[in-house]
Amino acid sequence: MFFPRAVLPSLLHLTPAWLGARGLKGVILDLDNTLLPYGEEEIPSAYRDWLERLRTEVPVYLLSNALPERFARVQGALGLPGHAPALKPWLGFRRALKALGLPPRQVAVVGDQVFTDVLGGNLVGAYTVLVPPLREREFFYTRFIRLLETPFRRPWGGPL
Ligand SMILES: [Mg+2]
Repeated sequence: MFFPRAVLPSLLHLTPAWLGARGLKGVILDLDNTLLPYGEEEIPSAYRDWLERLRTEVPVYLLSNALPERFARVQGALGLPGHAPALKPWLGFRRALKALGLPPRQVAVVGDQVFTDVLGGNLVGAYTVLVPPLREREFFYTRFIRLLETPFRRPWGGPL
């Protein structure tokens, strides 16, 4: 449940071709530290370009634990469906799947955190994809969580 199906070196590797080869027809995308450096509201230009290309071929739904006001500003600028706060890993994924109108096995859940994105995506039977965090948070709590995540930051059955 804690292992992702795939680990990518960067979000930029998640292309329509990569998704298509795995039978994936939609994406549920995390925001903080996946698309957006934590605490910022400006998406890096390379990621903006990547998202613009992806969304022309694959529906993308933003699912975030961010506070609603901040999420609304970013989501409004992008014009993508989504909602926050999602209370991942327990809540939000079924609503996202319903909005996409796809069965879980055809949806990639993409994020930077094992205990929210990966666990939540696995619990609903989606195809989970772990990417490295864009920026480490400074809080002790998050550093502690990262330490706990370490054994799971590889695909199920993949090398340590
Ligand atoms: Mg995140």
